[in-house]
Amino acid sequence: MAFTLDERQALGIHGLLPPCFKTQEKQLEFVRLNVDRYQEPINKYIYLMGLQERNERLFYRFLSENVEDMMPIVYTPTVGLACQNYGLIYRKPRGLFITIYDKGHIYEILRNWPETDVRAIVVTDGERILGLGDLGSYGMGIPVGKLALYTALAGIKPHQCLPVTLDVGTNTQKLLDDPLYIGLRQRRVTGPEYDDFIDEFMKAAVQRYGQNVLIQFEDFGNQNAFRLLAKYRNKYCTFNDDIQGTASVALAGLLASLRPTNTRLSDHTILFQGAGEASLGIAELCVMAMMKEGTSEHDARGKIWLVDSKGLIVKDRPEGGITEHKIHFAHQHAPIKALSDVVKTIKPTVLIGAAAIGGAFTPEILQDMGKFNKTPIIFALSNPTSKAECTAEQAYTYTEGRCFFASGSPFPSFTINGKTLTPGQGNNSYIFPGVALGVICAGIRNISNDIFLVSAEALASLVTDEDLEKGSLYPPLNTVQKCSLHIATKIAEYAYETGVAGVFPEPEDKATFIQAQCYDYFYKPALPSIYQWPQTKL
Ligand code: NAP
Ligand code: MN
Repeated sequence: MAFTLDERQALGIHGLLPPCFKTQEKQLEFVRLNVDRYQEPINKYIYLMGLQERNERLFYRFLSENVEDMMPIVYTPTVGLACQNYGLIYRKPRGLFITIYDKGHIYEILRNWPETDVRAIVVTDGERILGLGDLGSYGMGIPVGKLALYTALAGIKPHQCLPVTLDVGTNTQKLLDDPLYIGLRQRRVTGPEYDDFIDEFMKAAVQRYGQNVLIQFEDFGNQNAFRLLAKYRNKYCTFNDDIQGTASVALAGLLASLRPTNTRLSDHTILFQGAGEASLGIAELCVMAMMKEGTSEHDARGKIWLVDSKGLIVKDRPEGGITEHKIHFAHQHAPIKALSDVVKTIKPTVLIGAAAIGGAFTPEILQDMGKFNKTPIIFALSNPTSKAECTAEQAYTYTEGRCFFASGSPFPSFTINGKTLTPGQGNNSYIFPGVALGVICAGIRNISNDIFLVSAEALASLVTDEDLEKGSLYPPLNTVQKCSLHIATKIAEYAYETGVAGVFPEPEDKATFIQAQCYDYFYKPALPSIYQWPQTKL
């Protein structure tokens, strides 16, 4: 109904639309009415996916202008529920499904994708979807959702984004028994066959879209995530958001906390519950940040402790299970099993949860954090909400409102001692869209960890005293587009300074250069503008 009378007649669609004209602004009000009519978040999600199908610009404008309340729908936590019920809510195909039986033909499948100018791929094999485990092909909701955020939060054009699910099976019996399941009904293929499959995918992607195509790995199982990152990081334009994006957003929060606590990162003792992709990614980036402060690598590692499923990670732990990534943080210490005892012994200043064990930060642990620190820093990063280590309310209550709290999934504000505290969301979407934008615009070939350090610093610099006063270590979520652009600009500046940029001539004003390439979600006239020749020439 936004077509004008002229357009309707010229396009031959007059009469096919009701005799009413609506601006995009009016349509946004209509979308809002529809979204609000649904009680269940999952129904809001289904409605929005339908809108994305019908009217892409309207969808992205709505999403972009309503980040704060729509992010929990298209992203965690609702996207998790959507993935778990993907077979039920499935309406129309979105993204590319490539199975292990397509080996030898992956390039052909990529050629079936109708867009040729793809710049960014988000790929999952569905093995560790959020904190929900192995969802196989139901995991497609994640690359679809992440790429919607590429566009809504960083202005990367929708046709340049390709969501991919690599289906090698699922080990979740419930899905294998689910009549609605949309993926291969078999257990996961592993070993060399799996590796060759991923290898072929990487090669085919580059063959199809060029060496500069950005490939974001998302929600792969722990075993594969670290391995594949190490294997591909210097060969392809790739990063793993669960490891590196998480690291950057968490570090940004920590850097922001340094101002009000008047400390350096190297002054802190950081304890992680969980020693997986998220925790180890954050830990490694913290080491880099401490080294930048002048601390030696050895000393930096000494300030970081991790707890995994077997307890505190220490040298010569009788239970073993210390992988090569964990070993760099295994210190000489007596083994301790329970997190509560670890907290009492290590007395951390920063406690970060990323083990997908809901409620792991018990009142006792939170009270201890409050006892040991004037301003404890507590991050409950596990997603979705049901997996969070504690709620914002619990963190504030048991530390008498003194802590800085951040979480992966959103929590409402909470008032304690007459003060209203608004927890920040340590949400990866502050980082990965901006990183992708910067990498694409500057033509960066390989994404080093420095890029994530630059991004963390850029994000932390946007946290205002006012944010901190309210208890948030992050800028408000409704400014996330500004954050993306700032991060992308800083990445571009870094890339040209260090010689890793690939786009020339070097743009003088990086921010303007980047902004000029961003997606425009306003409607364009449907008819071309007409110009005239001099009368005498006709
Ligand atoms: P992961 O690689 O599978 O790691 C999970 C870790 O938790 C493993 O080290 C595991 O120990 C440990 N663990 C399991 N049970 C435990 C227990 N009872 N006590 C202590 N540790 C235990 O997963 P991930 O990628 O790190 O993700 C973990 C969670 O973080 C997920 O919920 C995810 O959604 C969330 N996350 C949030 C953000 C964000 O908010 N920005 C970003 C990324 C991830 P073992 O090593 O011994 O198996
Ligand atoms: Mn993820």
